[in-house]
Amino acid sequence: MKMLRRWVSFLGIAAALCGCAVNPVTGERELALVSESQEIAMGKQGAEQVQQTMALVEDPELQAYVDRLGQQLAAASERPELPWSFAVVDDPTPNAFALPGGPIFVTRGLLGLMDSEAELVTVIGHEIGHITARHSVAQMSRAQLAQLGLGVGMILVPEVRPLGDVAGLGLNLLMLKYGRDAERQADDLGFRYARTQGYDVSEMADVFAALQRAGELAGQSPIPNWMASHPAPQERIEAVEERLRNAPPDQFESTVGRSQFLGMLEGLAYGENPRNGFFRDDVFYHPDLRFRFAVPPEWQRQNLPRAVMGVSPAENAAFQFTLAPAPSAAEAMRAFASQQGLQVGPTSSDRINGLSAATAAFQAQAQQGVVAGYVAFYEQGDKVYQLVTYSPAEAFEGYRQTFQTMIDSFAPLTDPAILNVQPAEIGIARLPRSMNLVEFARWSESTIPLEELALINQVQNVEATIEADTLLKQVRGGVGKD
Ligand SMILES: [Zn+2]
Repeated sequence: MKMLRRWVSFLGIAAALCGCAVNPVTGERELALVSESQEIAMGKQGAEQVQQTMALVEDPELQAYVDRLGQQLAAASERPELPWSFAVVDDPTPNAFALPGGPIFVTRGLLGLMDSEAELVTVIGHEIGHITARHSVAQMSRAQLAQLGLGVGMILVPEVRPLGDVAGLGLNLLMLKYGRDAERQADDLGFRYARTQGYDVSEMADVFAALQRAGELAGQSPIPNWMASHPAPQERIEAVEERLRNAPPDQFESTVGRSQFLGMLEGLAYGENPRNGFFRDDVFYHPDLRFRFAVPPEWQRQNLPRAVMGVSPAENAAFQFTLAPAPSAAEAMRAFASQQGLQVGPTSSDRINGLSAATAAFQAQAQQGVVAGYVAFYEQGDKVYQLVTYSPAEAFEGYRQTFQTMIDSFAPLTDPAILNVQPAEIGIARLPRSMNLVEFARWSESTIPLEELALINQVQNVEATIEADTLLKQVRGGVGKD
């Protein structure tokens, strides 16, 4: 403790001498341990990690639209000179996040919840606020950046742990907790930036209301995580109302931009994208990579951007499926076996379902003790895949058959219906006559539940009449869930 205090006071003195910078937003002097060029470098590195973990939505027009709106706001902010970038990531969870120095991402899940350009602009403005006020620098330590790499790298030495832990890899690490004051400040800044550009900032409250409803509808699903890091939506809605009361009256008519925004959403994927792999009837299918394998019944399972993982109901056995960075199954096995603390039995190179493969039993020293399992490498096309199944050594016998069945199940995917599966997508419909949302659901042959349709259209009362010619979102297509 004494040591720590000495360091703190040392840093305090150092700051008084030279490490002090002026906060671009508040104009106040504050301790800055990270220079602007370091901040930009951190953000660049983080953005690369994001793009390795999550794909961007393949829609150049939509990407250009979001970037253009973001660039306009950023150019009028306190830090116009930063290398700003704005992109839409292919993730169904409603979210937006900012990395230090300029990269900002919005998920397609959040776009699908919004229904005007003004709403989008206030969200982007909020994220710009985190960067202009240097919140992201304050929060994103080098350690966190290093941790980000975990979601991307290959996991070779397995550790038995509950699925909840591994599920945290990936997007959740990007959910920097800024604290409530910082969030309030970012809301203030987003409001101001959007208003300066002539947008109807009362729309900001609609975003928070939609997020609140999405959270309620999702129950215990991943959405509340984002909610947890921000002040309660109700509080944020009230803050918007207060800002509106205090703002000087608009001199010009402000922009909502509903039809422009909705037009951009036409064809956007909705919900999970089955092209990235999905579970059905205890089988994992990957239509783009054209393979399938069986998952033990009753096991919890999760499809992450770079791995498929599962845990037994008793949480004492697990599997991990990843890409192996090797030119052949035999090479991958050699690399696996050369790891410290790992003993690998004799390798079998029998073909599995027509594919070249290498399989072996192994034991490894993990943090919690010795684990035992099977590892398999499969060659398909120009890729090598790795499947590891394992449990604590003392539980291995009970799982031997389950592991073997799983390893033998990896096979090329040939079912044309699954190879051609497409995600559900958002379409924009113009009402041919006035009708309520219940009628609209029937008329548009909606493939999602009515309450979800009401959520994405921000309709409060499904029986209220909506005027003819109104644009509404509909959802078509999709795949049945496991
Ligand atoms: Zn925020």
